[in-house]
Amino acid sequence: MTNFDVAVVGLGAVGSLIARDLAEAGYSVAGFERATALHPTAAYAGDSRLFRVAYHEGPEYVDALLYSRQEWSRLDRMSGANVFLRNGVASIGAESSDEMRGVLDSVDEFSLPHTRLNGDEISTWLPQLKDTADDIAIIDELGGVLRPELAVWLFQDAARRAGAALFDRTPVDAIEEGPDRVRIVAGDEEWSASQVIVTSGVWTKDLVPAVSSLLDIRPIPLLWFLTDPEYDFSTGTFPGFIRDKNGQHVYGLPSLDGMTMKAGSGHGREPIDNAALLPDRLDQATVEESAETICGFLNGLSSYPIRSSIHMDVYTSDSRPIIDKASPRVTVSTGYSGHGFKLTPAWARASIDVALEREPRFSLHNYRIDRFAKVGDA
Ligand SMILES: Cc1cc2nc3c(=O)[nH]c(=O)nc-3n(C[C@H](O)[C@H](O)[C@H](O)COP(=O)(O)OP(=O)(O)OC[C@H]3O[C@@H](n4cnc5c(N)ncnc54)[C@H](O)[C@@H]3O)c2cc1C
Repeated sequence: MTNFDVAVVGLGAVGSLIARDLAEAGYSVAGFERATALHPTAAYAGDSRLFRVAYHEGPEYVDALLYSRQEWSRLDRMSGANVFLRNGVASIGAESSDEMRGVLDSVDEFSLPHTRLNGDEISTWLPQLKDTADDIAIIDELGGVLRPELAVWLFQDAARRAGAALFDRTPVDAIEEGPDRVRIVAGDEEWSASQVIVTSGVWTKDLVPAVSSLLDIRPIPLLWFLTDPEYDFSTGTFPGFIRDKNGQHVYGLPSLDGMTMKAGSGHGREPIDNAALLPDRLDQATVEESAETICGFLNGLSSYPIRSSIHMDVYTSDSRPIIDKASPRVTVSTGYSGHGFKLTPAWARASIDVALEREPRFSLHNYRIDRFAKVGDA
């Protein structure tokens, strides 16, 4: 049986980056992916992701976001690719809302470069947005757009070149911990490793019973609209945005193809019991409901999307990840809760620190499994 220092189960963005970083550091690494190396059911699929530092989720993430930003920039420098488009991101909402409080606190605490706009200024700067009189906007100058599939491809390519053995179309069925090794079983094949890091996204709910009850799988729809040339949605002019108004949450990204812009609404839909229950396509009623919400927030969009898709991510009840040992040789890194892509470099680094029991680069207290223990539990 082939033995590795570290096995990574699940080659999404975090898993692929862990494989790269460990292989480049000289560890023998195996990476396992149940599907093809790149695939549309992974949580990274859908062309683009927002990167924000002025964070409505609160300042506790800003150190990890600044670290991640440096690493995304380093990836572009090293690869010559354009994974990170430094386009800025606008957070928009009522000044008194919890979301804008998180943004303003992040900006103040870390002196983040930004531009603040009142309602009238928003309509001048960002005429694409409707009905902004009662809102403020913070344009996060460190924000931008990430190209997720390209990032995963680059991480896997670099991992392979550094000597990692990556096995795609290899669904891991069991992770069995022994006294000094872990057995990884996929069909009738098996491998062993001194440490295993599980980065299997929504599928972690089935694979790791110790955290299963802490995870909710939520579908997330995406829609692509044609854009009216009168309203410029191009990168360079239109920053990505997130906006909360009247209990609704809408986000949009600048046009990457000069023809469409991608948007979404809501924070993830009602949970489904397992990943296999995700439909292949977005149903008509959800397309229409989402399109109506999004077009209520934006000028210059076709009233109906020309493309839509349905994805999923795995959430915890406090929307923070779980990055912790489930047992002495098995680290679980999951539950990025719909906002994890931008933090891939930080979560990969944190996962390696936990697995190898190194001094952690980030405070990991909020990401431990035992934070969910009920008062009175032993
Ligand atoms: C539609 C959508 C929009 C989003 N927008 C943003 C955004 O704008 N900004 C942001 O920061 N974040 C965003 N997110 C969140 C972010 O994309 C996710 O949190 C992140 O990509 C999750 O990564 P993951 O590695 O946990 O999962 P995945 O990317 O799904 O990776 C897990 C991998 O493990 C594999 N796997 C599973 N089980 C096994 C097994 N048994 N054996 C082998 N392999 C296995 C899977 O096939 C998969 O490839 C969004 C998410 C979605 C779905």
